[in-house]
Amino acid sequence: MTDPYIQWQVPARVSRLKDLAYNLWWSWHPEARALFKEIDLSLWSRSHHNPVFLLQNSQTRLEALSQDPQFLARYDRLIESFERYQSGQDTWFKKAYPESKGSIAYFSAEFGVHNSLRIYSGGLGILAGDHCKTASDLGLPLVGVGFMYPQGYGQQRISADGWQQNVFEQIDWSVSPVRPILGPDGKRVIVDVGWGQWTLHVALWEVNIGRVRLVLMDTHVDGNAVADREISGRLYGGDKNMRLRQEIVLGIGGVRVLRALGIPVSVFHSNEGHCAFLFMELLREKIAAGLSYDEAAKEVASCGVFTTHTPVEAGHDIFDEQLVTQYFRDYRPALGMTEEGFLEFGKVPGEPGFNMTALALKLAGRRNGVSRRHGFVSRKMWSKLWPGSPEEGVPIDSVTNGVHLATWVQQELGWIFNKYLGENWWERQDDGAVWSRVAAIPDEELWAIHQRNKEEMLQLFRSRVRNRWVAGQTDPSQVLAQGSLLDASALTIGFARRFAGYKRANLILRDIERLKRLLLDPWTPLQIIFAGKAHPADDLGKSLIQQVYRLAKDPAFGGRIVFVEDYDMHLARYLVQGCDLWLNNPLAPLEACGTSGQKAAVNGVPNLSILDGWWEEGYNGSNGWAIGQAGGRGSGEAADAADANDIYETLEKQIVPLYYDRGQDRIPHGWVKIMKESIRSVAPRFCGDRMVKEYMERFYAPRPAPLAIPAGSELV
Ligand SMILES: *Cc1c(COP(=O)(O)O)cnc(C)c1O
Repeated sequence: MTDPYIQWQVPARVSRLKDLAYNLWWSWHPEARALFKEIDLSLWSRSHHNPVFLLQNSQTRLEALSQDPQFLARYDRLIESFERYQSGQDTWFKKAYPESKGSIAYFSAEFGVHNSLRIYSGGLGILAGDHCKTASDLGLPLVGVGFMYPQGYGQQRISADGWQQNVFEQIDWSVSPVRPILGPDGKRVIVDVGWGQWTLHVALWEVNIGRVRLVLMDTHVDGNAVADREISGRLYGGDKNMRLRQEIVLGIGGVRVLRALGIPVSVFHSNEGHCAFLFMELLREKIAAGLSYDEAAKEVASCGVFTTHTPVEAGHDIFDEQLVTQYFRDYRPALGMTEEGFLEFGKVPGEPGFNMTALALKLAGRRNGVSRRHGFVSRKMWSKLWPGSPEEGVPIDSVTNGVHLATWVQQELGWIFNKYLGENWWERQDDGAVWSRVAAIPDEELWAIHQRNKEEMLQLFRSRVRNRWVAGQTDPSQVLAQGSLLDASALTIGFARRFAGYKRANLILRDIERLKRLLLDPWTPLQIIFAGKAHPADDLGKSLIQQVYRLAKDPAFGGRIVFVEDYDMHLARYLVQGCDLWLNNPLAPLEACGTSGQKAAVNGVPNLSILDGWWEEGYNGSNGWAIGQAGGRGSGEAADAADANDIYETLEKQIVPLYYDRGQDRIPHGWVKIMKESIRSVAPRFCGDRMVKEYMERFYAPRPAPLAIPAGSELV
């Protein structure tokens, strides 16, 4: 590699290790992870699995390994399979779309690809990461566009009285899997984003995700006003003004960046409304090229895809109209629109403000929610933009989310799949016939691997809290609250997700005496692991964490309620692989999809969930447990009480007895049957391949768009 940015060296014989370190392909290929581990296991673990850091600090060891025939043989094999993958010879896409031209540009405010790259906060980002990895596996010509956040998203610490603290650490890019994008002259590519009096430049970075290139914009550039340098400082940081500038850079800047890099794009996909200004910029380009407004709008619609991700009102960006007017004063004339006409883009009839979701819905020709229920709810929610149309005629479709199996399926479980489903299960992951062979896995084998995963999860909790204890950052009751008393033989519920009001983390705490009986039963104990962050500005979410944390510290619960700090992708993997049961109890119908339950299910961890989001489609009567009522019971005390009662009753009457029903061999065969049914029924339908193929076939490929939008001032 002759990248002037990378000053450090590795021995010539193993020089391709650098390419590997800078391509997150390694993160979902076990042979690559194993090779890095072999270089220095302790450094690997201390660096939180960061090969860039590992290589930089292993010079001597690498010298030795480059003489070691066994290591070299493995290295050569690995590089060969990496190259085969990168060449993209016979991918699904190549076969299905041999004539296809142009790239799919996938815009997102966050990307959760790996923990060594903290530019994500939660579900939305991880979905984007899974989308990119899957697109790479399938061979889609996809390019990601996002932000480089020098401070990423805050890490979570919980104070002794249970209050969330956010710790922001400057990310050190020299030890992250990102590189600057350089022009032919060897200098950094800088792109202009501002207009009128506003000069704003972005510098570009690149992350490789297998065959997919992710381009990240960074406003920390000389020549930018000090305030503008902070635009890409923090994910979801700052006030509305900052947020608007972020979204301008993300959408408008993103399009300009793709042009500057000369990437031919045929589809523009906005992942959530944060990026929706991209459609406006496309409109401006086409009008500048001489098209009439109507023609331009038709073309934008035909290449625009928009995915909405939440039915929760607060999840949609709404900006003050004055603020928008002010920022776009010098931009608007290029669209040939009046101020009022311009504001119409973000207008929801009868509501104040400039709504980014409305903007995206009006300009993109293909729109979708992320589960069947969410499609239905979104059509209802946004029907006001299509007055006169019946709800079922509102043109918002749905593609149910899925998860990237190679990222989320525990490695040794993957080997069991190799053995019983066939080595190619991974390439045929959306084929139900492959998964019907799960029945052939012996109960002992599946149970043994599950128990091992559970032990590893508990081990992780203990080692984390031990480090904190040694560092003097925590008191004894906090050590217990974070899981050091957990018992590997007790039925273990996982509840990990954002602590937002509608997710109702405290629902299972409603009848505390009833819960306590379950937790402390001497023969059939139960324990609950909570994890998750509250948005830094969400005091309600923080108070929910505090409520849980106080119980976790309370001796009356025997250490059987725990709260584990700093939920991130790394912790999520251990949790979805190591718990016995995955609980999700949002206030229906507010869960758009909910992907953590899918990750759990494919690892043989059954769901106990409200019939909402993906579970309404996924539940089949024998692959887990459903609670609540499809479409919800409304909101309020009565609904909460009924849903909570469903949880207790299902636990008391079905789940606990089944889990502890052991044969002579101490294996809960009835339970294992549900584990298998969970894998069999969920994997083919909620895997990344199914999701991305569906986007390709139904959203990226067809054109021109079936639905053009009405012209300028008539926009509604
Ligand atoms: C999968 C995942 C999420 C999203 O899970 P939901 O079920 O949609 O809440 C959030 N955070 C992390 C770290 C995840 O891995």
